[in-house]
Amino acid sequence: MTEKYDLHCHSNLSDGVLSPTELVQRAHEQGVTALALTDHDTTAGLVEATKVATQTGVRLIAGIELSASWQDKTLHIVGLGIDPDYPPLLEATRDLQVIRLERAEQIAAKLEKKRIPGALEAVTKAAGDSMITRTHFADFLVSQNHVSNQQDAFDRYLAKGKPAYVAAAWADLDLAVNWITQSGGVAVVAHPLRYKLTPKWMNRLLTAFKLAGGQGIEVVTGRCNVDEINVAAKYAIAFELAGSVGSDFHNPANPWIELGRLASLPVNIKPVWELFI
Ligand code: AMP
Ligand code: MN
Ligand code: MN
Ligand code: MN
Repeated sequence: MTEKYDLHCHSNLSDGVLSPTELVQRAHEQGVTALALTDHDTTAGLVEATKVATQTGVRLIAGIELSASWQDKTLHIVGLGIDPDYPPLLEATRDLQVIRLERAEQIAAKLEKKRIPGALEAVTKAAGDSMITRTHFADFLVSQNHVSNQQDAFDRYLAKGKPAYVAAAWADLDLAVNWITQSGGVAVVAHPLRYKLTPKWMNRLLTAFKLAGGQGIEVVTGRCNVDEINVAAKYAIAFELAGSVGSDFHNPANPWIELGRLASLPVNIKPVWELFI
């Protein structure tokens, strides 16, 4: 049987909409045979996801999407095939939850200055025990009719350079990669083209990433075109990185991104799953 991989998606343990159970069931319905759950900075959904995956026959790969800081930029590093019980990784996720709560307080204070009160109460309630993300703030701004949709919320308030943006001090890139590799996982640069780096900066990043022990790069993502695949593939080859494929699915209401709906990995790219099978 040919496998259908989707190695990047989110449940409601971070900023996804579906529970781990619903997510795995939907992946199964979409024909995904190997799924990595990669919530932002948490592994809390993996036990539930693994249980449902076993029932449905989906191969569940334990994953995470770690927020990392490098050269004043925020990057996302996906870990695949991690051990979620590896103590330093668990401890890191607890620290990241605190960083996220503190950032949420600062974002809420900035919104309050813009005469938008009540954000902290709303996002902490919406997130519950899960990770508070900017997506929760976006939903709050939509619900209060300050913006018409999530994208608008980022464009007007939450994105870098906007009034409610707060730069969080995530773990350094090296540290994030180490948590993944030392827990037995493969570290992958998530959505490499979304950082809008020049080729010079991309080369610097991938040099640092390789030095830290990183082994993969997302070549195929949820909504990328052939040109973007080719650019990412060129970096994969130049830096001898394995290629990953992941939709970055968050929300079934978004018609543009679906679990498992992904172009094939170019044949000249080493598949990342060969590293953790
Ligand atoms: P956070 O990790 O809390 O800073 O939130 C990051 C999440 O917000 C990402 O994973 C995306 O789901 C979403 N996001 C970030 N930037 C944007 C943007 N410019 N437009 C829409 N969604 C965004
Ligand atoms: Mn997200
Ligand atoms: Mn991301
Ligand atoms: Mn993601």
